[in-house]
Amino acid sequence: MQPARLPRVRLAPLPTPLEEAPRLRAALGARCPRILVKRDDLTGLGMGGNKVRKLEYHLGEAIAQGCDTLVTSGAIQSNHCRVTAAAAARAGLGASLVLRPGESEAVQGNLLLDRILDARIRIAPAPTAAAVDAALQEEMEALRRAGRRPYLIPKGASTPLGALAYAEAFMELMMQTTDLGAAMDAVVFCTGSGGTHAGLLAGTRLLQSGVDVVGVGDGAKRSELAPVVAELIVGLAERCQVSLHVPDEAITVLEDYGGRYGVPTPGCVEAIRLAARTEGLILDPVYSGKALAGLIDLVGRDRWRADQTVVFWHTGGQPALFAYADDLGGAR
Ligand SMILES: *Cc1c(COP(=O)(O)O)cnc(C)c1O
Repeated sequence: MQPARLPRVRLAPLPTPLEEAPRLRAALGARCPRILVKRDDLTGLGMGGNKVRKLEYHLGEAIAQGCDTLVTSGAIQSNHCRVTAAAAARAGLGASLVLRPGESEAVQGNLLLDRILDARIRIAPAPTAAAVDAALQEEMEALRRAGRRPYLIPKGASTPLGALAYAEAFMELMMQTTDLGAAMDAVVFCTGSGGTHAGLLAGTRLLQSGVDVVGVGDGAKRSELAPVVAELIVGLAERCQVSLHVPDEAITVLEDYGGRYGVPTPGCVEAIRLAARTEGLILDPVYSGKALAGLIDLVGRDRWRADQTVVFWHTGGQPALFAYADDLGGAR
C-alpha cells in the first residue's frame, strides 16, 4: 500500500488502546476465550467512534480539493453525522447534515451534539433512501447556489478511503497483539454500511494473518451488505494499487443479533449491562451492544476454545445511549 500519497488530516490519537477484559471473560464461563477490547470508542474527536478514522482521508481530500463544507447523511442518531460535524469544526469548514426521520427525534444524544457543533441540519421528508438522496442533492445545490464548495461524504464514510483507514487499523491491532504475545483468532464488531468490515478484511488478507473477521449486522442483511463490502475492497485495492482477493465466503455478516436497525434487542440491552457491570465498559444501543450480544452467543455455542483470543472491536456510539433512555433506564 502507498497511502502516504493520499492527503490525510490526523484526527484520532493513535494507536487506540487494546485492553484485557478478564471480568467479562469470567462472567462468560470457563470455556470463554481470552477477550481483548480494541477501544476505537476512544478516537477522541467529537466523542469518538469508528467514523473518526474513516474521516481522516475524506477531510484530507476535501481540503485538497478546496471544498469548504462537508455534506453527509445518516439516521437521526447517526454517529457518522456527529463526527462529520466535529471534523468540519476542527478544520474550520461548514457542515450540512441530511438526517433520516424515524426513531426518536428528541434533541438528545447525537442530534443534540450536531446542534452544539453548529451543523446545518435538514430532516428528509420521508425515511426512505430515495427521499434522503433527493434531500441531499437539494442541499448540495443550495450550497452551490450560495457560493459554497460542498464535499459529499457517502453514508457512513464507507468508501475505499474509509475502508483504507480500517485496513490500517487492522495493522495497528496486529502490532499490538504481537507486542502482547497474543495470537489473535478472530475480531468481532458491528457492521452497518460496510466500510469498517471491508477495511478489516482487507487488512487481514494483506497481512495473511488468518484472523476470522466476524461482522455482526446492525440489522443489515448479508445478501445486501456482502456485495457492498466486496465492492469496497475492490475499490481499496485499486486506490492503493495492491492485488487483493477476498472470497465471498470470507464476508461474514451475522443476521441473528441486529433485529431492526436502531431498535435495541433484549440481547443488546443485556450485553450493555454485562460490559458495564464487569468492566466499567460502556457500549451503545445501536451497534456495539449488538456486536457484544453476538460474541456472547457465539461463546455459548463454542465457536472458540478457551485457549484462543478474540478481539471485540468497540466502534463507539455511546452518545446514542441518551436518546434510548426509555429502553435502558430500567436496566437493573
Ligand atoms: C457506523 C458505526 C458502525 C458500523 O460501521 P460501518 O463501517 O458503517 O459498517 C459500528 N458502530 C458504530 C458505533 C458506528 O457508528
